[in-house]
Amino acid sequence: MKYVVVSGGVISGIGKGVLASSTGMLLKTLGLKVTSIKIDPYMNIDAGTMSPLEHGECFVLNDGGETDLDLGNYERYLNVTLTKDHNITTGKIYSHVIARERKGDYLGKTVQIVPHLTNAIQDWIERVSRIPVDDTGLEPDVCIIELGGTVGDIESAPFVEALRQFQFKVGKENFALIHVSLVPVIHGEQKTKPTQAAIKDLRSLGLVPDMIACRCSEQLEQSTIDKIAMFCHVGSEQVVNVHDVNSTYHVPLLLLEQKMIDYLHNRLQLNDITLNDDDKQRGNDLLTKWKKTTGNFDASMETVKIALVGKYTNLKDSYLSVIKALEHSSMRCRRKLDIMWVESTDLEPETQETDKARFHEAWNKVSSADGVLVPGGFGTRGTEGMIHAARWARENKIPFLGVCLGLQIATIEFVRDVIGKTEASSTEFVEGLDEENQVVIYMPEIDKATMGGNMRLGLRPTYFQDNSEWSKIRKLYGSPASVEERHRHRYEINPEIVSELEENGLAFVGKDESNKRCEIFELKNHPYYVATQYHPEYTSKVLDPSKPFLGLIAAASGILDDVIDGKYDFHTDSESTDF
Ligand code: GLN
Repeated sequence: MKYVVVSGGVISGIGKGVLASSTGMLLKTLGLKVTSIKIDPYMNIDAGTMSPLEHGECFVLNDGGETDLDLGNYERYLNVTLTKDHNITTGKIYSHVIARERKGDYLGKTVQIVPHLTNAIQDWIERVSRIPVDDTGLEPDVCIIELGGTVGDIESAPFVEALRQFQFKVGKENFALIHVSLVPVIHGEQKTKPTQAAIKDLRSLGLVPDMIACRCSEQLEQSTIDKIAMFCHVGSEQVVNVHDVNSTYHVPLLLLEQKMIDYLHNRLQLNDITLNDDDKQRGNDLLTKWKKTTGNFDASMETVKIALVGKYTNLKDSYLSVIKALEHSSMRCRRKLDIMWVESTDLEPETQETDKARFHEAWNKVSSADGVLVPGGFGTRGTEGMIHAARWARENKIPFLGVCLGLQIATIEFVRDVIGKTEASSTEFVEGLDEENQVVIYMPEIDKATMGGNMRLGLRPTYFQDNSEWSKIRKLYGSPASVEERHRHRYEINPEIVSELEENGLAFVGKDESNKRCEIFELKNHPYYVATQYHPEYTSKVLDPSKPFLGLIAAASGILDDVIDGKYDFHTDSESTDF
């Protein structure tokens, strides 16, 4: 197993995740099998209990793991399926060691951070890196380990020490380190001091950079590269220029141009890994498809405008997978994506009273959009605004997609307006809601006493109902009997009211295995009005966009029938992609 560690200095949030996943993706183009581990040095066991406004989206895995959003980057770039163990947090590793101590595994010993915790980290990495994650079902060849935070923080110290020891355990030719640093531009000058200081910190902790990836708003000058190489004690070929680019999908190609892979190839003696012709061919195909799909941006392409009506819009990372799913679908439909961010409270009558300009601006966006999206969310704030947006889309025949909370919102809207129960709501939004108005209710099996990791989570099947052959969403999936998608919710559509909803035209075309729980609804007499209780965005891939999102973008672009007929599918021969 070859390990590539990606750590960061100077500041966090400079795109370590994208750099790490792009590196992994490039290694895959050689035909290697690549996996990844993300280390998050916080005390939470997982990301499930953190506010999206503070930490960005909580990403959900097949096994129900609620993880850091970078796991999403890895799944998307590497086309792999990870497990909850691929995300190590301080909370997880401490509770693992403490549980072992209680069991008596260290009987007679004083349990310490070094060596017990640091050993546990190394054992965890070795064990998890070997789990097969792609469709070959084989053990991976390379594991990318991203260390969150910045080196030098108190939080990450045990992990840094574990990795320091690990490099000797696995051997020099099996361990490489990429340190991501920042080169600020001050008064037009590219400053190298922060990078020099970051590398000094790294070396003082016993880690040696094999590559220094410099994030900069502009292309690095040769003199900057030479200076960093000189003062950080590396060759200039080890300094990688990662300047801002239009799209993060271009980062792998940026790294490729700078021969990063050639360097890693030598450094990690990748020739030792035997690859057969099929592996190499798969790698080649991946690079060709990636270049073709991501290089497909063209200034002359038509724009598709999507109003994203959410409640965490101040931090765009709260909706990272949703944005990615929209991007993947737009690339497939050959459209330029314009996401119009709408904070849902801005659509509410209270805002009209307090801040008219804000209210009108928000409605201007919703009413000029080609499609409306209401994504997932928790709590009452902003839900009335979402209900107004869903009504706008339903009445004006604007393509609409509701995801999780979005499905619950659109159902409440329908009951209020079409069935006429104006007080209808969710027990999540209104305490003590009368029984007759309970459109969305707490699921009976969910524990009310604890919060961590106990929602209805992970991959679960949805069965298409008899007589749903007409359904656009079913056709987009290729007309299967069932689909499997990832979930994360505590509330559901009240099963008692489903028949009444269906009699009024809201077709629940997909239900769970009990045939009671609603998973997908669709309106028949509408260009595209679809909502899912699950989160299809989590499994969207650059080369395989999520179907409900593809439907939204296609309908908003006026090409839904062509997309359903496969006219926009990816083909390797250049002619058929030339629209
Ligand atoms: N708050 C809703 C629930 O728990 C929706 C959750 C979500 O959108 N992920 O059911």
